[in-house]
Amino acid sequence: MSKLIIFSAPSGSGKSTIVNHLLQAGFDIEFSISATSRTPRGKEKDGVEYYFLTPEEFRKKIAADEFIEYEEVYKDTYYGTLASEIERISKKGKHIVFDVDVIGGLNIKKKYGDRALLIFIAPPSIDELRNRLIKRGTDSAEMINLRIEKATYELSFAPHFDVTIINDDLEKTKKEVESVLRKYLQK
Ligand code: ADP
Ligand code: 5GP
Repeated sequence: MSKLIIFSAPSGSGKSTIVNHLLQAGFDIEFSISATSRTPRGKEKDGVEYYFLTPEEFRKKIAADEFIEYEEVYKDTYYGTLASEIERISKKGKHIVFDVDVIGGLNIKKKYGDRALLIFIAPPSIDELRNRLIKRGTDSAEMINLRIEKATYELSFAPHFDVTIINDDLEKTKKEVESVLRKYLQK
């Protein structure tokens, strides 16, 4: 049976870097593509990073009970995991990797229990998180402040996760995450 590996982290902690590394590390895993009603950024393509829906389409799917979890992060901006996505990857006999926010992660874990591993990626400190967001160069100063404010709130959920990994040295983190995954998938 497919297992679920869920990654959550404050924005800028290195979650995408780590998930992208794992997807190329030879595990029998596939990324769960979420649905969202936000518009694509940069080179994002429908069906690759996300399934891009209109708020109207998203609400229709909510009404039809097609999500295993979803959230309206701010007005008309929804993110959610479609049941069909889990079905799609399970059918291939692969394990499923999620990149969702902390609340989404906890909701999936509640539903799937021991079939799911909840991994929290934390930055070494809030100061370092700010440095990385500045260096990444994708957010305005105002957005960075918002992300930092939210990060403090999100960090308070770490104790509810199965595993917390502090992403200080990236190479060390990659090895640690690989080792956690190897053990979990063997069980
Ligand atoms: P997230 O997906 O959590 O928002 P990213 O993977 O985009 O975070 O990482 C944020 C920035 O920090 C990127 O520019 C990334 O290259 C960098 N980064 C990731 N891990 C580390 C690390 N251990 N040390 C220094 N920089 C890192
Ligand atoms: P972004 O807009 O930067 O791609 O994502 C914003 C946030 O939404 C990130 O924290 C990401 O983990 C979260 N997210 C992405 N997909 C889902 C989902 O399906 N469900 C939930 N709950 N959060 C999601």
